[in-house]
Amino acid sequence: MASNHGEQSLMVAPFPTDQVFIGGQWRSPVGGGVLPIENPSTGEILGRLAAGGTEDIDAAVHAARTALDGPWGRMTAAERGRVLARMGREVETRIDMLAELEALDVGKPLKQARADVVALARYLEFYGGAADKLHGETIPFLEGYTVYTLREPHGVTGHIIPWNYPMQIIGRSVVAALAVGNAAVLKPAEQASLTALAFAHIAEDCGLPAGALNVVTGTGAEAGAALAAHPAVNHLSFTGSTGVGVAIQQAAAVNAVPVTLELGGKSPQLVFDDADLDKALPFLVNAGIQNAGQTCSAGSRVLVQRGVYDAVVARMSERYRALKVGAAIDDRDVGPLISARQKAMVDRYLDLGAQAGLIVGQGEIAADAPTGGHYVRPTLFAGVAPDHALAQEEIFGPAVVVIPFDTEEDAVAIANGTEYGLVAGVWTADGGRQMRLAKRLRAGQVFINNYGAAGGVELPFGGVGRSGHGREKGFEALYAFTALKTVAAHHG
Ligand code: NAP
Ligand code: MG
Repeated sequence: MASNHGEQSLMVAPFPTDQVFIGGQWRSPVGGGVLPIENPSTGEILGRLAAGGTEDIDAAVHAARTALDGPWGRMTAAERGRVLARMGREVETRIDMLAELEALDVGKPLKQARADVVALARYLEFYGGAADKLHGETIPFLEGYTVYTLREPHGVTGHIIPWNYPMQIIGRSVVAALAVGNAAVLKPAEQASLTALAFAHIAEDCGLPAGALNVVTGTGAEAGAALAAHPAVNHLSFTGSTGVGVAIQQAAAVNAVPVTLELGGKSPQLVFDDADLDKALPFLVNAGIQNAGQTCSAGSRVLVQRGVYDAVVARMSERYRALKVGAAIDDRDVGPLISARQKAMVDRYLDLGAQAGLIVGQGEIAADAPTGGHYVRPTLFAGVAPDHALAQEEIFGPAVVVIPFDTEEDAVAIANGTEYGLVAGVWTADGGRQMRLAKRLRAGQVFINNYGAAGGVELPFGGVGRSGHGREKGFEALYAFTALKTVAAHHG
C-alpha cells in the first residue's frame, strides 16, 4: 500500500467493488445504483460500491435456496468443514491485502486490522473443524420406541452486519451458519463492505459451491430491510444498533423467523481495592480505545472502589495523555471514527463532558493526521455520576467514564444500572467475590482479572436486555444456526 495518503485512490481493491455476488456470479445491481467508498482517515472517496436493492436481495435468497437443493445441500459435513478450513488458510495467505482493505475502509489502525484477519482465519479453522462434530442425541423412552434428534440447518440465513468489525462478525455469524449447512445472504454495512467482497472472492477461489454465500452490498434502508422482510429467509442474524435491531425483530416476526440480535453495550469494568493495578491498567485503557471505541463490548465504564480511585484516575489519565491518534496506515494507538456523522455524535458527548468539567485526560491528534479524517481525541472522564448521560448512553467513540463506588453492593447496582448487558470485567484478588460477581453481573460474558479473553472464538458471546439475545461464537452459534428435529420411531 502507498504510504502517501493521496495515492491510495489509485488502488481500492484487487477486484471490482461495484458488483454484488449472487449464485456464484458477480454482476451489477439491478437498479445500477452506486454508493461512495470513503476512507475515514482522509475523507477521500476511494471508489464505488454497488447499491443493491429489493430485486438483488430476492435473487440472492433464491440463489441460496437453489444451493440448498443442489451441490451445497448434498455436501457431507466433513466436506463443508474442509472447504471452510481451506478458506481459513487462504485468508491467512491474503492477510496483507485484507488488513490494508480494512484499514482503508474502516480507518482501523493496521495492527488492529491484521488482528481481525487472524480472527477470521481462526473462525474458519474452528467452525471448519466443528462442522462434522455437531450431532444429535438418542433419548431413552418408552418400550418399543427409538428416539433421536437431528440437528438440521434452518435453510436460508440472512446476515446484516455493522461496519466496526466486518471480518470478525462474518466469522462468527456467516461462517458458523455455513458450517452447519445453511446458505447465507450477507448484507454488509455500506461504510465497510470491502472485506465482505474479498471474503466472497476467497470462498469462490476455495470451491465453496455457488449460492452457498451471497453478498449484496447496499443501504440498510433498502437492501437490509428487504433481507429482513424476505419471506423465504429462515433465520436472521443481526449485529448493530438496538434501534435497528428492534426493527429487524419486528420484520422477522411477520414471517415467524428466529432472530439473533447482537446489539450495543455500556460494559463496566469493576476495579476493587485489592486489584492488581499493574495488570489491570492496560486492559482498562485498551478496552475503551480499541477500534477508536467503536466496539460493542468496549469497556466504556470503569467503576473504581474508593481506596484506589485516585490512583486509577491518575494512572489512566497519564496513559490517555500519551495516546496518539492518526491515519490507519500510520498505525497509531487510535484511528479515525468511521464517518463525519459518527464524529458529530461523539463530539456532542465530548462537549457535554467538557462543559461539566469532567475531563481528566485526553490524547492528541498527531500533527500529520490528514485534515479530512474523522478524528477525535481519546477522552477520559472522571467523577461521573452513574445516572449521567455519559455513564448511561453508548458513545461509540474513544471515551471512557470513571465512576467511584464504596461497597461490592454499590458496584453491582451501578454495573447493572444501564439498559444494556453485554460484557463485564471484574478486577479483584478475592476468590469469593469473583464467584459472587460472576453470578450477579447482568451480562453475556464476565471476565475475571482480564477483559475480552483475547477475543476467544470458542467463547459464546451475546447480550441480555437491550444488548440483544441469542449467542454467537463457540459451539453455541452452531446450535443457534440449526433447528432440532426429534424423531420417534415405534417399532414394537
Ligand atoms: P446500525 O446502524 O444498526 O447498522 C447495522 C447494519 O444494519 C448495517 O448493515 C445497516 O446498513 C443495517 N441497517 C440499517 N437500517 C436498517 C433497516 N431499517 N433494516 C435492515 N438493516 C438496516 O449499526 P451501526 O451504526 O452500523 O453499528 C453500531 C452499533 O452496532 C452499535 O450500537 C454497536 O454497539 C453495535 N454492535 C454490536 C455488536 C455486538 O456483537 N453486540 C457488534 C458490533 C456492533 P447501512 O449501515 O449500510 O445502512
Ligand atoms: Mg468505508
